[in-house]
Order: sequence, then structure tokens, then C-alpha cells
Amino acid sequence: MTKFKVIHFKNDCISCGACAAINPDFWSLDEDGVAHLKGSKEVEGQWELIIESIADMASNKETEDACPAQVIKVEEVEE
Ligand code: SF4
Repeated sequence: MTKFKVIHFKNDCISCGACAAINPDFWSLDEDGVAHLKGSKEVEGQWELIIESIADMASNKETEDACPAQVIKVEEVEE
């Protein structure tokens, strides 16, 4: 099964809130107003979440497109 990785370059997030507004299943704002990718883990300074559903990939692709700071990336994971 194809897997996807959602990556958040949190250090460059500008706290606009667009991700949490359009995709609250995956995105929220923490108490400092910085976006948080729900269920993600920090890997070498960026936050990552593996997803397997095409629908989840599509919703996060939309979120990637909506992020004005371009700090969200969705990529296919090579098995
Ligand atoms: S849309 Fe991008 S810049 Fe705005 S809060 Fe979310 S991750 Fe940060």
C-alpha cells in the first residue's frame, strides 16, 4: 500500500491559521499560535506524520496548497 508523509517545517510557520481552518482533522494551533500537525513526531527539526489513506493525502495536499509560507509538504514514501 502506498504511504505518504506529511512534513511540517514548523520553525518557518507564520501562524496564519489557514491549515487549522481548512483541515482541523489534522491541524491545530498550539497555545503559542503555531500550527501543529496532529499525531506527528519531530524528526531532525521538522515534524512528520505517515498517512495511508488517499483521502487523507488529498486533504493534506489541499492544506499544502493553502499554506502561504509553503511550510507543509506531502510526499510519497518509497517502500
Ligand atoms: S497554513 Fe502554514 S503558515 Fe499558516 S499556520 Fe498553517 S503551517 Fe503555519
